[in-house]
Amino acid sequence: MSSKQAAELALSVFATSDAGLAMIAPDDRVLMTNPAFERLFGGAPPSELLARLQIASWGEAAHQEPVLTVNGRTLRIKVMALPPGYFVNCEDITDQFDRSAREAKLARTDRLTELGNRQLLRERLQALLHDSGPGRDSHALLTIDLDRFKAVNDALGRNIGDALLCLVARRIRATVSDQDVIARLYGDQFGIIQSNRPQPASAIALAQRLRDLLSRPYMLEGQLIEVSARVGIAPLTQGTTDADQVIKNADLALNRAKQDRAADYCIFESSMDQTMRARRALETDLRRALALREFALVYQPQFDLQSGRVTGLEALLRWNSPTRSPVSPMEFIPLAEETGMISLIGEWVLRTACRDAAAWPDDITVAVNVSAVQFANRALSTTVLSALADSGLDPRRLELEITESVMLDARGTALGVLQRLRATGVRVSLDDFGTGYSSLGYLRSFPFDKIKIDQSFVRGTSEDPGNRAIVRAIASLGQNLGMATVAEGVETTEHMERISTAGCTHVQGYLISRPLPPEQVIAFLAVSKTAPPTSVSDRSKVA
Ligand code: C2E
Ligand code: MG
Ligand code: MG
Repeated sequence: MSSKQAAELALSVFATSDAGLAMIAPDDRVLMTNPAFERLFGGAPPSELLARLQIASWGEAAHQEPVLTVNGRTLRIKVMALPPGYFVNCEDITDQFDRSAREAKLARTDRLTELGNRQLLRERLQALLHDSGPGRDSHALLTIDLDRFKAVNDALGRNIGDALLCLVARRIRATVSDQDVIARLYGDQFGIIQSNRPQPASAIALAQRLRDLLSRPYMLEGQLIEVSARVGIAPLTQGTTDADQVIKNADLALNRAKQDRAADYCIFESSMDQTMRARRALETDLRRALALREFALVYQPQFDLQSGRVTGLEALLRWNSPTRSPVSPMEFIPLAEETGMISLIGEWVLRTACRDAAAWPDDITVAVNVSAVQFANRALSTTVLSALADSGLDPRRLELEITESVMLDARGTALGVLQRLRATGVRVSLDDFGTGYSSLGYLRSFPFDKIKIDQSFVRGTSEDPGNRAIVRAIASLGQNLGMATVAEGVETTEHMERISTAGCTHVQGYLISRPLPPEQVIAFLAVSKTAPPTSVSDRSKVA
């Protein structure tokens, strides 16, 4: 091809290209443009474009590809040094650009509520955290969780649940300012980044407004729905650099607010993180404890004041961890209940206690504490019956100790389980009576065999006449209902005297005996048959 032919070809490509092409002199004079270039810039003088591009300053380094918006179009511009000037190629990427902008927006939007989503919240947080200026202290993250949302969702169905979330989103949007970022994090949890305000005062004010507005009733498909909201606040103080950490901090504060019935909101403090870590470590160890055989039972005698004999023993769980100092059941049982581990642990307790008791004299009972969470599982009665069958223990020698919280279950599952078990001969005691709701209705709704009066009343009998009156009242209530009454926590002879005058039928406490390891129970029972309670307690000091 001759050079003339090549030049003609280049010219026709130049003239017909879809891209806007131009040759520009180093002094910004336009030497040559193609029709696409003129179409692109329409009435806009190329001088304006040139001013924005500042071609003269590009020199030899003309390799960048800036994206500019001119006349509402998005253009990617390539500039190439081509002596005697510059060759400019403008590509219209408006459609492509809009699509990716749309996709980016969609990826950061919560489809249900059309608020932002977790990704958006994280990115905006991260951007604020990069800013190390004095303004850093003027931002805070708030996380919001609805109380009772799950109940609404379960009872009224997902569609109503979703519609409720949209209404909540709308109320949140109406509460915050335009510059704040709102997102739905998951389920019924929302997040707000509040920026450029005095903190934490502004976040607290917002939390109170949210709490107020979100707990007003909602009307959905003719139903009036009430939920309320709790708020966790994490200020973006200096020193935090990680968005996920801030989200976690707000969640910790939110959890604290949920635990405290009276709190609408809670502000994160670093001690919460430590408490949470300690709890998680305890949980990890507890999960292993059953498999590693770190649990043991001890047995505390119950003394019958009428016959002057020990009639039964209560099984109490101990956790002998090789790495921890002794952990009280008051600390690890609630954790086991929250995590659901109590079902497995409770089954171990039942089976072990029945097996141990089967070796005791025939007239001695064993009492086992069963927590409310265990009753949520219908398999509990099967477990009890199987523990009895495997050990060969007579059902009449097993007593289940339950607390009032068991009776609070509205569906009556627990009551059904208790009735079924009682029909087989198993006995049922009401533990810690006097501390909870102490509703007399519970005493009527189930024929308990025993009422155990909480130790706080028993130990308080010496100082407080009120306590004495309560013990007396419960004892006479038991007498009238045909239920035995056990005073717990009897430590001194003085307690013992007051308890027996009050009319209780049984006592349990350090005065009779501390809880005993299983291997000492039989010997203890042999001695107690022949000795009065105080000498029994002398004997128990060995344990
Ligand atoms: P509880 O069922 O009311 O058990 C009585 C608690 O009082 C036991 O504490 C016992 O050691 C203690 N105690 C007995 N006599 C005296 C006394 O004279 N003075 C004092 N100061 N304390 C006395 P422990 O063993 O620490 O158990 C605490 C609670 O943990 C129990 O209260 C029970 O609610 C729960 N628990 C223990 N073992 C189990 C179990 O196997 N399953 C379940 N679900 N809960 C258990
Ligand atoms: Mg008990
Ligand atoms: Mg008790």
